Amino acid sequence: MANASVMALLGHRTVQHDAIPGGISRLTAEDVAGALGMADISREAYLFGLLKYVGDKTVIHELDKLTQRAVILFGLRNKWRAPFADDDKRSMFFFLQLGRLVINELVGENICPTCNGTGVYIAKARKCSCSNGRRPMPKASMAKFCGMKPEAWKKTWHDRYTACVAEFYLWETEITTAISSKINLFQQTS
Ligand SMILES: [Zn+2]
Repeated sequence: MANASVMALLGHRTVQHDAIPGGISRLTAEDVAGALGMADISREAYLFGLLKYVGDKTVIHELDKLTQRAVILFGLRNKWRAPFADDDKRSMFFFLQLGRLVINELVGENICPTCNGTGVYIAKARKCSCSNGRRPMPKASMAKFCGMKPEAWKKTWHDRYTACVAEFYLWETEITTAISSKINLFQQTS
């Protein structure tokens, strides 16, 4: 099954459920949680899946911690230096917050307020100037959220942040694979 169909079954915003051929009923939150629980995926991907597709916000605390650690490990592999060399606590907070920005972006929280995520600016009857209904947080706001000077964020950390988003997008792949096999099982037994 194509990934697009899987995302549609999970209630992904950008796909028309009615347009899916085959008449497969959508999975319930319990089905998705069950499939994720049985899947051989990382703890991070599991928690991220529960947050994004089941709406389980109780996982956020643990997911934040694991993402912070993952960001630091990713940074070590890429030879980053600590953002605040003389202040470990501040550096740890920075990585915690950066991880949270990554999660927010991957969950799709950056909804454009102009078009309300539709990508169409109805009042002006034209395509919205955002990116398919998403409007990224301004760089200065991201810097502030992480306790970093805007210039340093723009010069160094924004690219690293983008690299983290790409790296942790792998969670989506793990989840999609896990859910796909569950759907195939459904189709065989029903
Ligand atoms: Zn928009």
